[in-house]
Amino acid sequence: MESELNFAVETVRSAVRICRQVQSEIAPGRWDKEDRTPVTVADLAVQAVVSGALGERFPRDPLMAEEGSSELRTPEWAELLSRVTEHVRLMRSGNPAPQTVLNWIERGQQPIDPDKRYWVLDPVDGTKGFLRKEQYAIALALVDRGRVLLGVLACPNLPGSLADPLAANSAGLGQLYVATRGGGAERIDLGPEDALGSRRRIRVSTTADPALVRWCERVESSDRNHDLTAQVVDRVGIRSVPDRLDSQAKYAVVARGESGLYLRHSLNRNYREKVWDHAAGVLVTAEAGGQVTDISGRPLDFSRGRELSDNHGIVATNGLIHERVLEAAREVLERMQ
Ligand code: AMP
Ligand code: MG
Repeated sequence: MESELNFAVETVRSAVRICRQVQSEIAPGRWDKEDRTPVTVADLAVQAVVSGALGERFPRDPLMAEEGSSELRTPEWAELLSRVTEHVRLMRSGNPAPQTVLNWIERGQQPIDPDKRYWVLDPVDGTKGFLRKEQYAIALALVDRGRVLLGVLACPNLPGSLADPLAANSAGLGQLYVATRGGGAERIDLGPEDALGSRRRIRVSTTADPALVRWCERVESSDRNHDLTAQVVDRVGIRSVPDRLDSQAKYAVVARGESGLYLRHSLNRNYREKVWDHAAGVLVTAEAGGQVTDISGRPLDFSRGRELSDNHGIVATNGLIHERVLEAAREVLERMQ
């Protein structure tokens, strides 16, 4: 797994550079307007760069990624394509043509054989957070027969500590979180120019007393969803207010022991979680000693195509409070029927 891991870390680092570059071009105060162009440019450029690198290094491995290229091929999107191509050229040698960039992006829509291994990418996870210059992540994972073997999560805006965002080790440069199945999870602090800085093993919190547990959830959710998670948490006996973060940064804060719980649930029964929103983060949390299931306690099944079609919601914990959260969720959901 060593060469896959090195490849994933290096590729995600180039992706971080693209995201920082694009984000720095967002004019202050622009994020609250409806213009989503910056996130679209970053999404597409990151997907092209990761896909191009993967095609070169592991040509037989398919890629599942969020974006497609069909709109971008139409004349109305020519200007966007040229912006994307410019960002890709800063990261890839050989001056790739726009057509090459389109083909790299389109690889993310390849059919996946669930009995074989595949890579999965969320080029910019937490797009609303990206536009607000808050939390977002780049998530790359390798899945084999439904099990995640490797996960790399970049959280370029995550403070080193949520409690103390101005602490010395949180210069605002973010971290990478890397995990291999059976090999544990590590945090690598990012330095200037995205140099890899100090590297250390991470473990989930050892807090079993709900009164002392911190927890986190989505920013973007309906009030009714937040009401449901609040009821579950209240039943467990957790008293803290949630940290609300966009993206898989939530898995990172559980994995590094700050949060004891990440709870996610959609009241829309038809919503299915997307594989790229979870694969990397789930492995990072699990390898840090945590536990991740859906809201009914079922393991997440990554062999069902692009969605977790057999799962509802997410419960990611330090392990110690997992059963209590599942039990509370069961009771709250039953009462709502
Ligand atoms: P987060 O940053 O945790 O809010 O997650 C962002 C991801 O949530 C996006 O990439 C979407 O794929 C996904 N998403 C979109 N709509 C919903 C929904 N109704 N329920 C759960 N997840 C959603
Ligand atoms: Mg996402």
